[in-house]
Amino acid sequence: MIPSEKVYEIIEKIDILEVVSRYVKLRKTGRNYKGLCPFHPERTPSFFVNSEKQIFHCFGCGTGGNVLSFLMKIENASFAEAVMLAAEMAGIQIQVSGYSDQADARKKIVFEANKIAMKFFKMSLESSQGNVAVDFLEKRGIGQLYREKFAIGYAPARNSLVDYINANNLAIGDFEQAGLVIKKETGYTDLFRHRVIIPIFDHRNNICGFGARAIEDQQQPKYLNTPENYVFKKGNLFYGLNWAKERIKSSGFAIIVEGYFDLIKMHMAGFENTIAPLGTALTENHMRLLKRWTDKILLVFDSDSAGTAAAFRSLETILAGGFEVKIGVMPSGFDPEDFLDNYGNEALKKLLNQSKDVVDFAFQIGSQKHSIDNPKGRAVLIEEILGLIKHIPDDIERSIRIGQLAKITGVSEGILAQQLKDIPEKETSQSFTQLSNQQVQSYAENYAEKTLIKILLRQPSWADEIKPYLNLLPETISKVVEHCTNNEISGKKISKILNQFNPEISGFLTQAIFGENDPENIDITRKEFYDCVKVLCKKAFENRRRKLQEIIKQKTESGQPCDKELEELQFCINQANVKNLESILSRQERSVDVKNGEKE
Ligand SMILES: [Zn+2]
Repeated sequence: MIPSEKVYEIIEKIDILEVVSRYVKLRKTGRNYKGLCPFHPERTPSFFVNSEKQIFHCFGCGTGGNVLSFLMKIENASFAEAVMLAAEMAGIQIQVSGYSDQADARKKIVFEANKIAMKFFKMSLESSQGNVAVDFLEKRGIGQLYREKFAIGYAPARNSLVDYINANNLAIGDFEQAGLVIKKETGYTDLFRHRVIIPIFDHRNNICGFGARAIEDQQQPKYLNTPENYVFKKGNLFYGLNWAKERIKSSGFAIIVEGYFDLIKMHMAGFENTIAPLGTALTENHMRLLKRWTDKILLVFDSDSAGTAAAFRSLETILAGGFEVKIGVMPSGFDPEDFLDNYGNEALKKLLNQSKDVVDFAFQIGSQKHSIDNPKGRAVLIEEILGLIKHIPDDIERSIRIGQLAKITGVSEGILAQQLKDIPEKETSQSFTQLSNQQVQSYAENYAEKTLIKILLRQPSWADEIKPYLNLLPETISKVVEHCTNNEISGKKISKILNQFNPEISGFLTQAIFGENDPENIDITRKEFYDCVKVLCKKAFENRRRKLQEIIKQKTESGQPCDKELEELQFCINQANVKNLESILSRQERSVDVKNGEKE
């Protein structure tokens, strides 16, 4: 556990401006700094940092908080990890007696097991039994220097890792969690046997897992990866990002290739801004991760049909993430590794310089598939390309692409734009999921409000208990409580008050009254009751927060001071995160009247 005084010390010592600036280009505007939000795609900045208050907020996607919340979000880190990171940045030493949450502890176990395994694999490569792997690597032109750099190892043919673990009295369960050994009825066996081992690091240099290449032709499968676990999540990792990230930042773009060896050869050839997904399609998480270093991608892949199909899928994700993308197509039958081996760096550089942008590329690939001389073929092709353009979140960028497509196809921009409109919006799985979370939440609030009314109808005597929260609860609840207190809720009396509610609630009340004997309504617990109150109180802070954001945005844009609002905003963010109801109440006295604020 990290003591809370330490946490406060870190927050005090570290400057949010400095931390955020490592990830986001910020520009001063009045008393604040603003930049492009790293959490959602945008072209006009709506991401603000206030260094005086040490908080940030995005008016586009609603994300906000202090320096630790920022680190948690951008590094995809737990609270404890964020504290450690911040401490490191602030140069504060912290003694951690144990990882503060279970998830961290589990991760640490896997990282440690992987580290030990990596050492073992490297050792095996250097031993005489590793000669076969060294030969394999030498044949591919990967010499000693680069074997070291990429920490490449060898997994021997027998259960050598299991033997090593046992001989050193290590906890074999840890290695099982890391997916390195498999428990069978007869005992443990190694996952990787007689394979070249490529350790896969995350961008913070933790060893998350391994890729393993077969050495003999008859060995199946050719590539074997660590199975998915707490730290090895293919959809969140890029191979090579730990080495490439600085270069990506300085060069202004990332090169994405497909395979481990492609990547190694690219780095060897000086293309050190190259990364590779782990044999999967690119995901939203990949895009969010990469956004910290660049918003430009050069996608390189094989020109066979499987390659182009994969590229199309990746392009959708890349475009939806708001990236600018160019596509470098390898000549038929070559991957980057073969190409480099045959033609060398300069030839590859030339080839990459001729990379195409998304519309040109899609047109070129599509016109090989569909015959564009007949109108039908051309229509299909246009629809395919518009399907890609549809993923671009930015309107200006979209219309540029439409213009380009019009030029190539000879179809007018107006018609294309109309056709684009007619393509149904993709489900949010393709893009950022902010919206669906909100929907879930508003459903929960609605449900809480209704359930609370239902409970009060049944247990009018409980109404007194929620009176302290009334200024945070919706008006309908106040009304119901009032009627409970006046003993107007039972029996016939209810009919008199129904018209005081909106049609939806009123309909709900009658339904509840009719369903009084419904078995599912019988066991109402105090916990349910208070859970509903909590959800609704949080909603009140949430609403106030949104309102404040509007005010702050307006004031900031017109250059007026908004310190009071920022302070209240921080308060609302805190209260919305409070875990138990009592704390919401206990701090409430100090606060402004949230509900009155809402009515402003
Ligand atoms: Zn945002």
